[in-house]
Amino acid sequence: MTPAPSRAPAAPAGPPAPEGLNAARPLEDRAELLRWMKEQLHAEYGARPLDTAHPRRAPMHELISTILSQRTTHEDEEAAYHELRTLGDWDAIIDAPVEQVAHAIRRSNYPESKAPRIQASLRQIREHAPDYQLDFLADLPVKEALKWLTDLPGVGVKTASLVLLFNYARPVFPVDTHVHRINTRVGTIPRMGEQAAHRALLALLPPDPPFLYELHKNLLRHGQQVCQWTRPKCRVCVLRERCDAYAIYGDRVPSFSVK
Ligand code: SF4
Repeated sequence: MTPAPSRAPAAPAGPPAPEGLNAARPLEDRAELLRWMKEQLHAEYGARPLDTAHPRRAPMHELISTILSQRTTHEDEEAAYHELRTLGDWDAIIDAPVEQVAHAIRRSNYPESKAPRIQASLRQIREHAPDYQLDFLADLPVKEALKWLTDLPGVGVKTASLVLLFNYARPVFPVDTHVHRINTRVGTIPRMGEQAAHRALLALLPPDPPFLYELHKNLLRHGQQVCQWTRPKCRVCVLRERCDAYAIYGDRVPSFSVK
């Protein structure tokens, strides 16, 4: 399978994993480990059906909200999006003074840098799709769809992957902080940055959107409830028996850092 492209350079690889750990195993072993993880999480949290007829948000909403979500709580992201939309339709947001846009999204972190990026992205979208309908992404080859989205200012591969998987059931895998942390600890991927982890994980996963969606959603839940940033609850973790971090540290898995 062709790895997903990314504009970001790959993070430098860390030291090789000790022999016997997952991170040192061949690709096919780590692909099998991911399938096992998906089954374990399915048994723990249940099915998460991918329903593009009723996505959690419309494509433009997903796209702009995900830009707003960067380094921002979910509550503040929602508040910023809601106030942004009080400025009017997308054309009106493009035409508004950038200071007004920044003020509207002030609940999001870094509003001064996000405001011009949102306006530039909207302009770029309008040039290609004057009605702001992104449905053409459903028909583009996946690599081209990812490139089109990541060429928008402020849109990284995570945002692009969320839109493509959640709204258009394309075979990509969004890697957020939870997905990244759990996979690094279990050892399906070596230590690397979040951007590089997109390519590494996608190369191990089947091109099966319902599979990818369920795994993403259940990893998110597992990261929020069990494999947290600090003091992960390994004693109750369904991934424990095959987790590199648990094999090394036992009940004292350290706080997560990509350094
Ligand atoms: S065993 Fe601990 S470190 Fe490993 S995935 Fe589970 S909670 Fe995370």
